[in-house]
Amino acid sequence: MGNSPPTPPDDITSKQIQTILAGWGKQHFRPFPWRTPLKEWHGLIAEILLQRTRAANVIPVYQIFIQRFPLPQQLGMASVEEIENIIRPLGLHWRAPLLKKLGQKLSENDGCVPHDEQALNSLPGVGAYVTAAFLSLHAGVRSIIIDSNIVRFVGRLSDCLVDGETRRKKWLIAYVEALTPLNDINVFNYALLDFTMEVCTTIPKCDICPLGERYCAYRKRNIAEKTPNECGII
Ligand code: SF4
Repeated sequence: MGNSPPTPPDDITSKQIQTILAGWGKQHFRPFPWRTPLKEWHGLIAEILLQRTRAANVIPVYQIFIQRFPLPQQLGMASVEEIENIIRPLGLHWRAPLLKKLGQKLSENDGCVPHDEQALNSLPGVGAYVTAAFLSLHAGVRSIIIDSNIVRFVGRLSDCLVDGETRRKKWLIAYVEALTPLNDINVFNYALLDFTMEVCTTIPKCDICPLGERYCAYRKRNIAEKTPNECGII
C-alpha cells in the first residue's frame, strides 16, 4: 500500500475485469422483481426504496406499492398517510411526502421518467445514487454507480485503505469510471452490485472469487506475504 492514490487499471485490464464480472453476474443474477419491471417508473421507485435497506425487506413492500400505484398519478393523489403505511416496514415513512411529490411531478410529464441526469436529480427524493442506478439499470444509459460495497471492492482491487469519505475521492470515481464498460451497462452494474454483495463482502470470499490475485492487489499481497485475509484463507 502506498501513499499516492491508486491509478485505474489500463484499458486491457479493465476489459478483462468487466468480462469476468459480467460473466459471473449472468450466472448469479438475482431475479428481484424490480429488475424486470413492467413499468419504468417502478424501477425508479425500487431504487429509492433500496437505499439503505436490505433487498429482501424491499420485496414485499415493492410488490404492495406497485399493485396499489400502477401509475404515478395514483401515487400523486394518494394520502401521505397511506404511502407512509406502505413503506413503514422499511423505516422509510419519512420519505412518504417526497414520494407523493414524485408521483405528482412524474404525472406532469405524462408519467414518464426523464432519462436526463439533471432532470432526474431534480425530482423529489431522487439523489445522485438513485439517478445513476436508475439510468444504468432501468434506462440503459451508461452511468457509474458507487455504494459502500463498491468502494470496498475497489479498495481491495487497488489495495488501498478506504473509509466513509472515499466514495467522493477523485481517484475512486476515476477507478470505477475505468472499470465500467461503454455497453451492456445494466448487465455490468447488476453484476457489480451482486458480486460486491455476495463475494467481495466485508469478509471476502477470495477462495471462490473469479478475479483472484491476478486482478486484486489485496489478494496478491495476502498470498505474497502469506498472511491470511479476513477469511483466514491464504
Ligand atoms: S480476491 Fe478477495 S478481496 Fe479480491 S476481489 Fe476477490 S473476493 Fe474481493
